[in-house]
Amino acid sequence: MATKNVDVLIIGAGPGGIFCAYELIHKRPDLKVMIVEKGRSIEKRQCPKRTTGKCVGCKPCSITTGFAGAGAFSDGKLSLSPDVGGTLPDILGYDAATKLINESDEIYLSFGADKSVYGINKEEQIRDIRRKAINANLKLVECPIRHLGTEEGYKIYSKLQEHLTEKGVELKFNTMVEKILVEDGAATGVCTSDGETIYAKEIVSAVGREGADWFRAQCEEIGIETKPGTVDVGVRVEVRDEVMQSLNENLYEAKLIYHTKTFDDKVRTFCTNPSGEVATEYYEGGLAVVNGHAYKSAEYKTNNTNFALLVSKNFTKPFKTPIEYGKKIAELANMLCDGKILVQTYGDFKRGRRTTDERLARNNLIPTLKDAVPGDLSLVFPHRIMVDLDEMIQALDKVTPGIASEETLLYGVEVKFYSNKVIVNKDFETSIKNLRAIGDGAGITRGLQQASANGLCVARSILEKMS
Ligand SMILES: Cc1cc2nc3c(=O)[nH]c(=O)nc-3n(C[C@H](O)[C@H](O)[C@H](O)COP(=O)(O)OP(=O)(O)OC[C@H]3O[C@@H](n4cnc5c(N)ncnc54)[C@H](O)[C@@H]3O)c2cc1C
Repeated sequence: MATKNVDVLIIGAGPGGIFCAYELIHKRPDLKVMIVEKGRSIEKRQCPKRTTGKCVGCKPCSITTGFAGAGAFSDGKLSLSPDVGGTLPDILGYDAATKLINESDEIYLSFGADKSVYGINKEEQIRDIRRKAINANLKLVECPIRHLGTEEGYKIYSKLQEHLTEKGVELKFNTMVEKILVEDGAATGVCTSDGETIYAKEIVSAVGREGADWFRAQCEEIGIETKPGTVDVGVRVEVRDEVMQSLNENLYEAKLIYHTKTFDDKVRTFCTNPSGEVATEYYEGGLAVVNGHAYKSAEYKTNNTNFALLVSKNFTKPFKTPIEYGKKIAELANMLCDGKILVQTYGDFKRGRRTTDERLARNNLIPTLKDAVPGDLSLVFPHRIMVDLDEMIQALDKVTPGIASEETLLYGVEVKFYSNKVIVNKDFETSIKNLRAIGDGAGITRGLQQASANGLCVARSILEKMS
């Protein structure tokens, strides 16, 4: 069996893994740094659905795996506030998290990110939006956004791949880490799907949501302490751009939080895509969940804005598998729609009846997800989630009238698996020595900028230990 020795082994080439490798190799060019990634190199990441409109169920999925992880084909919205996208402020403190976010932002800029920032210099308009939000019992979270755009984001990550290779980081693609090796309470290396054993002084798990299930199983096997996390379940809403015009122009991404009257559940808006497209994202096992993105170039712009409405569910003892809960709901929608995404008009959602092809064809609003199947979300979501979504839509309508129109489209299921928070200290060390966990897969972050910043700071902790 082939073996190899490196100084730092990073599992996963998402933004967390990339920025960790970047910082390590810049500060210590003498280190042997290796990233093992189960997906493809960025130039080989091609999603057939993007040209044919049909998903052929690639394994592994090119949308979520490969260099740049879930970031490669994302909308590339970089949240510049530590209030958004993860728990770095809780772990490192607000000021330290802010500084790290600024530093990772500088790296994106140096690789060609758009210099404009949305959500600043519009104080009067934002005050007006906040006033309407308060009137509707919604909380407006302010977060400046740098928008890379899907195609520009892809180019930036392509340059980063080239840069890391030039600097001597070893990138091993199409290879899954199957097992983390532990001796006397310390991680010593990993076994990969091609039969190689790679020994490392330090291991960083940066596996993203795609690898969260695998990492949870590893945690159980090797005794890494975790605590149950949150699962966010809901729908992607699609409306005409006109309905969202004021929010889009002044904030780009309006982050609004509501606590519902009936159940006091937290519902939030997430990932707004002005003039964008609703998209299907596939998880391991072919589970189809809904997402959205927007292209920067005018050629690909649509007339519709989409955004997610997510209900946050926290579970208590004895339940320990929130990821499974979210998946079961998504599976129900998949089952009803032959593995595709379900779409329902808000009018039919309120009446509790299925949207039909005929009624959808009569709608003024044309769905941008062409293969979505008209259906009935009440056959998918528990009553509580249906009520939460309805109350949120009605509250949003007071801020941006038109959201609660009969023709508004609701696509299901959007689900974010932030499960399994790995217990880490401020150096992101797990309870197993020499093994650190970062990014979305550890339940620490849930966005590009915090995942990238997390990569930077874990690298600095490693460098300090090695100095
Ligand atoms: C469609 C879409 C749109 C998004 N849009 C935005 C946005 O606009 N703004 C924003 O801030 N965030 C967005 N996100 C979220 C963002 O992409 C993630 O928060 C971010 O990529 C997390 O980075 P990460 O490094 O933690 O994990 P990931 O990017 O998920 O990368 C993890 C990598 O680890 C690899 N991996 C997993 N397990 C193994 C294993 N066992 N062995 C080897 N490799 C493994 C995976 O293949 C993957 O490449 C979007 C996500 C998606 C899917």
